[in-house]
Amino acid sequence: MNRKAFGLILLGVVLAACATVEYTGRRQLSLISASQEKELGGDAYEEIRKKYPLSKNRAYQARIREVGRRIQLVAERPDFDWEFNVLEGKEINAFCLPGGKVAFWEGIMPITGDATGDAVVMGHEVAHALARHGAERMSQALGAQVIGEILAAGVGKIKPGFRDDFLKLYGAGATLGLVLPWGRAQESEADHIGLILMAKAGYDPRAAVGFWQRMSQAAKGQKPPEFLSTHPSDERRIQQIKQWLPEALQHYRGG
Ligand SMILES: [Zn+2]
Repeated sequence: MNRKAFGLILLGVVLAACATVEYTGRRQLSLISASQEKELGGDAYEEIRKKYPLSKNRAYQARIREVGRRIQLVAERPDFDWEFNVLEGKEINAFCLPGGKVAFWEGIMPITGDATGDAVVMGHEVAHALARHGAERMSQALGAQVIGEILAAGVGKIKPGFRDDFLKLYGAGATLGLVLPWGRAQESEADHIGLILMAKAGYDPRAAVGFWQRMSQAAKGQKPPEFLSTHPSDERRIQQIKQWLPEALQHYRGG
């Protein structure tokens, strides 16, 4: 590797290291720039799409694209190449990669139940991307030197092993049998920002309470131990959501 290039990348890494999350003002560590992250996200999405065909359920696709269109309008990220799809598969999961590639698996659709339920999940997942939680997680997990080497090797030509790590870090690793749990602070922040996004997009944020209750039922007995240890408990999550509802409702015009 070219030493000068590596030095420049490290400099960029250091400059990008301190960031503040919009909406909540929380300080975070970030060793990768938004544009680098977006490129990695686009590549990773292509890989996922090779493994998971689009769902043939037209009603699901129409719902997710409409909810996506409305969330996109309020997310105010013209630099993202947004795309909203439902993928075939029983996974109870959804994700938004940096750069705006959003996917729901068919398995979560009966739990969201309708467009408002979809908006709870969409708001939450898009919030993870807007708050750059994946970059934060990658920075914590990999460190500056490894990230510098990955970026120097060429964004867009990710090594297969790293691509898998990336997908896991971004919660899109269902294909790999393991989704790393997001940290509590990140989950709470995604819930909080997600409520504001859905409300601004015209969906009643009060629906989040019912959705997380249904998720709690669906997940009973299926949670691996690490999920239990690092995730906010369902009750705690619902309590927090209730505390944020008055703020979110200020953004909601529709009822
Ligand atoms: Zn989350």
